[in-house]
Amino acid sequence: MSDRVVMVSGTDGVPRFVRPEEPLLRADDLGVLRGDGVFETLHVRGGEPFLLTEHLARMARSAARLELPLPAEDRVRDLALAACAGWPAAEEGALRLVCTRGPEDGGEPTLYATVAAVKAAVRTQRHEGIRVVTASLGMTADARGEAPWLLGGVKSLSYAANMAAGRWAAAQGVDDVLFVSADGHVLEGPTSTVVWRDGPALCTVPDTTGILPGTTAAHLLSRAGSAGLAAELRMAVPEELVAADGVWFCSSVRGIVPVTELDGKALTVDPVTAQLRDLLGYPG
Ligand code: PLP
Repeated sequence: MSDRVVMVSGTDGVPRFVRPEEPLLRADDLGVLRGDGVFETLHVRGGEPFLLTEHLARMARSAARLELPLPAEDRVRDLALAACAGWPAAEEGALRLVCTRGPEDGGEPTLYATVAAVKAAVRTQRHEGIRVVTASLGMTADARGEAPWLLGGVKSLSYAANMAAGRWAAAQGVDDVLFVSADGHVLEGPTSTVVWRDGPALCTVPDTTGILPGTTAAHLLSRAGSAGLAAELRMAVPEELVAADGVWFCSSVRGIVPVTELDGKALTVDPVTAQLRDLLGYPG
């Protein structure tokens, strides 16, 4: 397994390596103090970041929503490519692009990237699937659309609640959580988009619910036609997922992972899973 790579974008915009054990952030960086910043996580395959343009676009949208002066796209792209430059083509990697608001009393945003190997446990999930429980997000499906300060659709650094949900799932003896709205609609996982098949329709949840628009699910749905399926944005309740032909959690590093159990009920593992994984280009 390759060592982690860390690279920071210098004030001149030129990326430079930082030893992984070397401190990089100031104690007063607002990314640390407030979780005030944006990030992206990308799959690195064949030594290159996958769907880089889509991730850069989402990062820019997230930054705009936070009124965060993200450096110009070329500079972020250069950093991403430089961080992946020496990554072995045969090894799956996870590239993180992080931009914080920088020092509390003013100054430039801090922009850096890390690349690390994809963990074996993540690759195993693609075959073995995951067991999931629903958990309430405590707000209605339309709440975030009416309250921009809740940052629906923004990939901010404030992920402590998402990580807590993962630990809560582990305490229940399962692998992950599916957030549902207070009015009972399926939303997303703490780090994944939910996708399901209902006959000829490959479905996911509309962005109007405030979920993060997933790059992996969007890419998959844009190619659904080649698996003989029609892409559809749909609201659903958990019971509809239990009755679906297949349910998956999708994200850049995980790829596409079948959900084998929801709230203790066994789900069908759809035979189309391998075809969808191939469509997304994740190793079998
Ligand atoms: N939803 C949330 C809340 C996420 O954090 C993520 C990714 O980390 C996703 C969905 C999936 O997004 P993507 O496919 O772009 O990785």
